[in-house]
Amino acid sequence: MTGSVGMEDGAQNQARDRGGLHGRASLGEEIYEVMLTQLITLKIPPGERLSIDALVREFGVSQTPIRAALIRLEAEGLVVRKHNSGYSAASIPNGHRFGEIYDFRLILEPAAAAKATGRLTPAQQAELIDTSAEMNRLVGDGSEVTYGRFAVLDARFHQLIAQACGNQLVIEALDRLYAHMHLFRLRFHSTVTEEAVVEHKLVVDAMLAGHEAAAAAAMRRHIESSRQRMEPFYRTLA
Ligand SMILES: [Zn+2]
Repeated sequence: MTGSVGMEDGAQNQARDRGGLHGRASLGEEIYEVMLTQLITLKIPPGERLSIDALVREFGVSQTPIRAALIRLEAEGLVVRKHNSGYSAASIPNGHRFGEIYDFRLILEPAAAAKATGRLTPAQQAELIDTSAEMNRLVGDGSEVTYGRFAVLDARFHQLIAQACGNQLVIEALDRLYAHMHLFRLRFHSTVTEEAVVEHKLVVDAMLAGHEAAAAAAMRRHIESSRQRMEPFYRTLA
């Protein structure tokens, strides 16, 4: 852990800066959000080792909330745990791999969206609508914390559709890509969020209207547009 990681301000100061969007969050939630933000904005660089002892000192808390945050970030693909060396920030795929991720998503996700149409449970419908609404609300804020939150919601949006399609292999394969966490670390810019919410709305509208082909087409357009936005930034990554 080095000073460049920039956690000197501590969770409490940064939490205060956020203006309490969701009221008073728990300490564990605050630490998670600070780390999420620093990972998404590359203030914690890909591959950086994350020492629990150093994090305990920097945040001035016990190991418990630090470990809880790391476990959550590991599940989200931002942190990896290796047997002998503990936790580190996940690496970013090379340009070729990003291309493969888009190819793979284009095979699975339009078909998943079509299949999920008409199979959404009321709870899944409600969460899809809520997730979209929350993303829409976050657009235009432009703060780093918002960006981290947006990345998590985007991942959840796509995961919900995979879950509604009901194919466990599709769910697992898409989960393992951690596509959104990689993409949001690649490009920290408001156009990404603005365009994504417009594209997501077309997917949701088609699904809620029960139009399978339109849902597939909207999902395809969303992933292709995302690729066009991101390709200039990953193309040159060795
Ligand atoms: Zn998306």
